[in-house]
Amino acid sequence: MSTDPTNLLGLPRAELEAFVAERLGAKPFRARQLMKWIYRRGASDFEAMSDLARDFRAQLAQVAQVRVPEVISRQSSIDGTRKWLLRMDRTQGIETVYIPEPDRGTLCISSQVGCAMDCTFCSTAQQGFNRNLSVAEIVGQVWLAHRELAGAHRITNIVLMGMGEPLANYRNVLPAMRIFLDDLGYDLSRRRVTLSTSGLVPQMYKLAEECNVALAVSLHAPNDELRDQLVPINRKHPIAELLGACWHYLDKQNGRSVTFEYVMLDGVNDRPEHARQLARLLRGRPAKLNLIPFNPFPGTRYRRSPDPVILRFRDLLNEQGVIATIRRTRGEDIDAACGQLAGQVLDRTVARLGAKLTAAPRAAAEAP
Ligand code: SAH
Repeated sequence: MSTDPTNLLGLPRAELEAFVAERLGAKPFRARQLMKWIYRRGASDFEAMSDLARDFRAQLAQVAQVRVPEVISRQSSIDGTRKWLLRMDRTQGIETVYIPEPDRGTLCISSQVGCAMDCTFCSTAQQGFNRNLSVAEIVGQVWLAHRELAGAHRITNIVLMGMGEPLANYRNVLPAMRIFLDDLGYDLSRRRVTLSTSGLVPQMYKLAEECNVALAVSLHAPNDELRDQLVPINRKHPIAELLGACWHYLDKQNGRSVTFEYVMLDGVNDRPEHARQLARLLRGRPAKLNLIPFNPFPGTRYRRSPDPVILRFRDLLNEQGVIATIRRTRGEDIDAACGQLAGQVLDRTVARLGAKLTAAPRAAAEAP
């Protein structure tokens, strides 16, 4: 009987140890050696793993491989931001973005091909949803960027802010994050791995039990009426419920604060009264607000708030005791900015949460 070789990329430490024990009769330290080769040194070829015994390497090659993503294209922005389009299936692609800053290097990774959350201001939403990424496909983005940056740049932070809703792919995102945190994986501290969610409340409670990473939440509106329009999941899990899940997460995980993302849409959510409503929601809470100037994409009905409006909005919040900062737009010239990642979602199931939820009243709405 022949089975497909197991992809070692994306196996968390415990699973890799079990694999080498069961399939190869090897000791756990072999798994640790493999992890160092795969993640730290970016190796994919067993032959290159010179401190592994020759016959162990040969045995490995029979049953396993390190299958890494294939690059469709690479782009570099004048500001140093880099973007990769990676092939997922014959017709599908996802994007990964590296954002260099003087004191850090952030890799923004995708968790799904497309997205079903249907936020009205997001380019990925327009693509519809195709499928969840596997653990290997999530970790593979880091593997690839790490290898291509080749020592010239370092990945000091990972944010799950690319295509997709990470908590809708909880099963695969969780083991991937374990590899980011593992000292034999990418060895990042819990504050340097950020999961961003549009607000899947039940999964936020689950995450609070299982993993400790920084949490970012896409708020985008200070009241339910407006948030229902912009972020359709709000019709199922309104703001009060969402904030409850945020404070619970911090309690459980001993976290310092939640970062709330707020996209600045001209004439939609950027008025002084919105800032005042936001301050009422967040004042005195362990919260930071990150204002994101809207990044346009073809076909969008929205415009970015003018700079003076964004500055004034930030000042109003600060005056009312809420820490607010403005996210600098990066990689705009290569469509790598927040909300611009479209990838190649050619074969899609047009699953649009907004449409589903409009058909059903809030209480009766079903999870996607
Ligand atoms: N699905 C997750 C993570 C992906 S999006 C989430 O919703 O949080 C990362 C951030 O970019 C989110 O805050 C998202 O709302 C924001 N975003 C989406 N489209 C945008 C756009 N066109 N301009 C600016 N920010 C956008």
